[in-house]
Amino acid sequence: MTSNINSVAVLGAGTMGSGIAALAAEKNCKVLLLDISEEAAAKSRDALLLGHNQALSDVSKKNNIEVGSFDKDFDKIKDFDWICEVVVENIEIKQDIFKKIEEHKGSNTIVSSNTSGIPLREITKHSSIDLLKSVCITHFFNPVKVMKLCELIPGEKTSKDVIETLKYFLENVFDKGVVHGKDTVNFIGNRIGCFLLLKGLHTSSNLRKNGITIEQVDALISKPMGLPPTGLYGLIDLIGLDVMHAVGLNLSKNLPNNDIGRSFVNLPKVELEMFNNGQLGRKTGGGFYRIKKLDNGEKLKEVFDLEEKTWRAEKKFDFDKDISVIFEDTIEGRLSWSIMGYTLWYAANLIPEIADDILNIDRAMRWGFAWSKGPFELLDLAGNLEFINKCKEENLPITGMLKVLLDSGEKTFYKDGQKKYLSLDGSYHNIS
Ligand code: NAD
Repeated sequence: MTSNINSVAVLGAGTMGSGIAALAAEKNCKVLLLDISEEAAAKSRDALLLGHNQALSDVSKKNNIEVGSFDKDFDKIKDFDWICEVVVENIEIKQDIFKKIEEHKGSNTIVSSNTSGIPLREITKHSSIDLLKSVCITHFFNPVKVMKLCELIPGEKTSKDVIETLKYFLENVFDKGVVHGKDTVNFIGNRIGCFLLLKGLHTSSNLRKNGITIEQVDALISKPMGLPPTGLYGLIDLIGLDVMHAVGLNLSKNLPNNDIGRSFVNLPKVELEMFNNGQLGRKTGGGFYRIKKLDNGEKLKEVFDLEEKTWRAEKKFDFDKDISVIFEDTIEGRLSWSIMGYTLWYAANLIPEIADDILNIDRAMRWGFAWSKGPFELLDLAGNLEFINKCKEENLPITGMLKVLLDSGEKTFYKDGQKKYLSLDGSYHNIS
């Protein structure tokens, strides 16, 4: 099979749009990159050749990208095989762009949105049946060039051809790892990843009263769990408290009514104050951490003391622990259980709601969030029977995949050296 996609129109030239445009140009696709003004799109294109980790390898690749503006150049999208919408995460703005796509697109064009978590059915609420057949979500992760994951999510009416064509293109031309999700809020990676972050903020906010610090939280919710070194607060600094605030709002509108994530969608009091004061993270020069330049030219990493509301020097921690810390009866154990234990339990309850099997969930967390193991691989490592006993002690019901495992009489979600995985029907299936 060869790809039917040779040209890509990218609508929105911000962080993600320029990343997707660069990847398509690198793969020798003809690219159209549009934004509010042609100057903004051209500036984004120029930036693709800058920096030590530049997105484009040379000027010849840059020449694959034509830039333009939404006002002047929208009709050009009719000549492109795939139109990828990547404008700001705002439902009204996305709906407007989709209205324009409908007016200008060609008859066999594939259309997708790169939204981080707004359900496709909301974005395409006013679209015709013709558009609904050709539209889906292609959710890339940042930076596009580096992160392996692309979540591919069909809508209710999306044709099989569209999904198969995109899957082939994403895997064979873009070299991405495709994960199949469903049209549910935040899809897979962000549903689980943002649960961990928001539950983490609330748990840590309670446990700080017992003396636990930001640095200790980050040292626990990282290496011991096989998660990246940014931990919890460091990752939120990278994402931005404004984005976390918006994620919480989207979750509050779109999470199922009985989802336990609903209890954590609002930022805790101090974090909300930081958000209101514009102390958002790296993008504003500091959030929970900041780098201070000293008079002698050296750099000092500081942490924001959330009780005192002052900056102090960071104190490094390194816990010689692994995932089994979630079972410890210590403050570190209680914190790890309340953040990671709950996240694993949450993930186990999201099949078949957000994905059909554990493979898609584990891959999403490894490829999109850089976890070294996905939730079900971590459960196998921690010991599922001990985990289930702990859930019972903590009054967490044994439902979802934990119940499937228990009923099957087996002990692990994967077996035969990761060649087989446990499926929802209680039997093991081969991993292709
Ligand atoms: P960004 O702010 O870098 O870029 C957004 C683009 O939208 C800008 O080029 C801006 O000019 C344009 N825009 C703003 N207002 C507009 C309007 N009224 N009409 C048309 N265009 C307008 O944002 P981003 O990080 O590139 O995010 C784009 C999309 O990708 C969002 O849906 C976001 O949720 C999603 N996403 C972001 C990330 C990430 O880590 N940044 C990861 C995955 C998905």
